Amino acid sequence: MSGYFKDIKDAIGTALVGMRITWGHMFTKKVTIQYPDVKRDLPDRTRNRLYVNMDDCIGCDQCAKACPVNCIDIETVKAQPTEDLGTTSTGNKKRLWVTLFDIDIAKCCYCGLCVYPCPTECIEMTDVFEFSEYNREDLIYRYAIMSPEEVERVKIAEEEAKAEKERKKAEAAAKKKAEEAKKKEEEAAAASESDAKNDGDSAPNE
Ligand code: SF4
Ligand code: SF4
Repeated sequence: MSGYFKDIKDAIGTALVGMRITWGHMFTKKVTIQYPDVKRDLPDRTRNRLYVNMDDCIGCDQCAKACPVNCIDIETVKAQPTEDLGTTSTGNKKRLWVTLFDIDIAKCCYCGLCVYPCPTECIEMTDVFEFSEYNREDLIYRYAIMSPEEVERVKIAEEEAKAEKERKKAEAAAKKKAEEAKKKEEEAAAASESDAKNDGDSAPNE
C-alpha cells in the first residue's frame, strides 16, 4: 500500500519538475534568429566544408591516407629534373605535379583527420555548411588547377623519361653482358694457350 502512495507522490513530483522548467521558459527573453537571412556565428573549430589551397599542395597524399572513408583522390606526376615547380608558402619544395585532387564531400564525415597531417597546412575546414546540390556528382569538389593539356603534357614527359631510363638500363645490361662474354672468351683462350704450353713442356726429348 505504501508503494502505491509513493508512486503517486513520485508522479506528481516529476510533473511539477517538468512544469517548473516550462514555466521558467515562459518568462525568459525569446531569441529568434531569422535564418537563412541571419546566421549564428559558428565556434572557432567548427568542421564543415573543406578547402584546399592548391598553390601550397605538394601532392604528398598524407591527407588521402588519413581519410577513414577514402573520399580524397589524388594523382600526381613526378616533375622532370629540368622543371622547377617552386616552393610552397611554408618553404616546402614542390616536386610533383598534382594532376587530380578530388574530394567527394558527399562521403565526407567531417572528422577533420585529413587536416592535421598536411605538411604545408593547405587543407582546412571552412565555416561553409550550406552546400546541398540536386546532382550528387556536383558534390565531388575538384581542386586540381592544371588544364587537361598541361596534364597530358606532364604525363607524356613522364612516360618519355621512364622509357629513356628503361632504354639506358637495357643498354647498360647489354654492355655488361657483352663485357662478361668477352672476358670469358679471353679467359678460355688464355687457358687453352696455357694447356698447349704445358703439353709442349712435358713432351719427351728425342
Ligand atoms: S574530414 Fe574526414 S572524412 Fe572528410 S575528407 Fe577529411 S579525413 Fe576524409
Ligand atoms: S596532405 Fe596537404 S600537401 Fe599533402 S596532398 Fe594533402 S593537401 Fe596536399
